[in-house]
Amino acid sequence: MVGAACALALVRRGFAVALLEAREPATWNAGDPEDLRVIALAPSSARLLDELGVWRTIEASRVSPYRHMRVWDGASGAELAFDAARDGRAQLGWIVENKLVARTLWDALGAAGVRRVCPSHVASFAQRDDRITLELDEGEMLSAALLVIADGAGSALREQAGIAVRGRDYHQRAVVAHVATERAHEATAWQRFTDEGPIALLPLADGRSSIVWSLPEARAREVLALDDGAFCEAAGIASDFRLGRVTSTTSRASFPLRLQIAERFAAGRCVLVGDAAHAVHPLAGQGANLGLRDVAELASVLGEARDAGRDFAASHVLQRYARRRRSEGTLDARALDAIERMFAWQAPTWTAMRGFGMRAVDAIEPLKRRLSAHAAGLT
Ligand SMILES: Cc1cc2nc3c(=O)[nH]c(=O)nc-3n(C[C@H](O)[C@H](O)[C@H](O)COP(=O)(O)OP(=O)(O)OC[C@H]3O[C@@H](n4cnc5c(N)ncnc54)[C@H](O)[C@@H]3O)c2cc1C
Repeated sequence: MVGAACALALVRRGFAVALLEAREPATWNAGDPEDLRVIALAPSSARLLDELGVWRTIEASRVSPYRHMRVWDGASGAELAFDAARDGRAQLGWIVENKLVARTLWDALGAAGVRRVCPSHVASFAQRDDRITLELDEGEMLSAALLVIADGAGSALREQAGIAVRGRDYHQRAVVAHVATERAHEATAWQRFTDEGPIALLPLADGRSSIVWSLPEARAREVLALDDGAFCEAAGIASDFRLGRVTSTTSRASFPLRLQIAERFAAGRCVLVGDAAHAVHPLAGQGANLGLRDVAELASVLGEARDAGRDFAASHVLQRYARRRRSEGTLDARALDAIERMFAWQAPTWTAMRGFGMRAVDAIEPLKRRLSAHAAGLT
């Protein structure tokens, strides 16, 4: 998603771009059931996708705007409530299928005449002073002024570029499923912090909710192995029956969770964007949104350099992008990590302090507005 958005953003700014992709995104059809992988897209991401000319197609296809967010602490009962209307907005964001965004971008790249080399796999690359040369597994050689590395959290290209990562393994997996519930979701993103990890119920367009349930690895394996009835019961208990009983579920999938930040976002003629640069805990639904903010920044920095007649892949240009995005990405990743730690610690005194803190934040409207604006990418 991030690499495709980046290719489109650069093409729209007049750069000649080739996109190397291992697997073509699956096609999206209105009649298909909602895909298991969904993300909460922030207004900043919708704005970028709109500038790229794809948001209208995505919005008209199938999105679910959410207008409220309720976050509560299972241990202390304290709650944070966010409402779009109170911030003067129509919605806080949209729940969208990853597949829909990826496919719409893919089709737009085709329409824009971008060379999509797919399936392709970079075997190796070499940097010379003014060019970067890539050798694909298929034997083809490509040469470019700049390589944008967007191959996800396990990025092999980042490693080849000699960029190390810092972070920690949460030893958790996020279990995902779509569920039907007794009560309507009320266009609300619900999230409860339990002593095992957060469980979110995100509102889907068809009235069901998408569960994102972060659990210690062993517990996640147990939950994945439950039959549907037992899974619904467990999800209902974990979410405090806030939407009543969970009445049916799809099959489940799960994803390992890591905090990971690249030590550098640029090296030579390579830059990192998306999960290749930073992978964060999904508790605030920020990963793809951060990646799309990388894209907006990179397109702007490269475009400005080129418009001024400078070498857009010169080290000082790439460093400008890297400085801005690495400091913001690191701050956000660390803030999410701090939230994860804050809720993981269950000592009674700490739980009481946490409850007190959450209630205090909930009562301070200007502070909540700032938090909400930051999550929306509006600050
Ligand atoms: C459970 C869960 C819930 C989440 N919820 C949210 C949310 O609500 N909001 C949000 O903003 N984010 C969310 N995220 C994070 C979000 O999914 C990721 O940040 C985002 O998908 C990263 O996109 P990416 O394009 O950088 O990387 P990826 O999606 O990993 O894409 C990498 C791409 O590179 C290709 N590739 C890999 N290797 C090669 C190679 N050698 N050659 C060519 N191509 C290659 C792959 O085929 C793939 O297309 C969530 C994550 C999880 C796990």
